Amino acid sequence: MKTRVWIIILSLAVLVCAVWWMLVSTPSYPSKIVGIYQNGSLVEKIDLNSVTGEREITLSGKFGKNTIFISHGHIEMKSAECPDKICVKHGALESSGTPIVCLPNKVVIKFESSSDGADAKTGAV
Ligand SMILES: [Zn+2]
Repeated sequence: MKTRVWIIILSLAVLVCAVWWMLVSTPSYPSKIVGIYQNGSLVEKIDLNSVTGEREITLSGKFGKNTIFISHGHIEMKSAECPDKICVKHGALESSGTPIVCLPNKVVIKFESSSDGADAKTGAV
């Protein structure tokens, strides 16, 4: 029955290594710089990793207000007065996911590519 104990210990060690690797590999992600655009022009650029505390940005568009909620490593469209609310339903912005877009109010929240200026034609929606 000794072998069984070793199998458990080994599988635990593998598990710990996997978790450790995931934790260690996370900070190697590029900085979480997010751009908030309205009508194709940049409103604000925020590094989500350097955000401390919570804040909200309110933008006024054709169909009312968009309230963007920001905290450390997190950004989402908290509420909006647009008719479709697709931007609110999107939830938090994921690094691998699609940008948060509010078509009625022409608001776009997306991650900036690290190579600055490479995609200067962003707001062309
Ligand atoms: Zn919307």
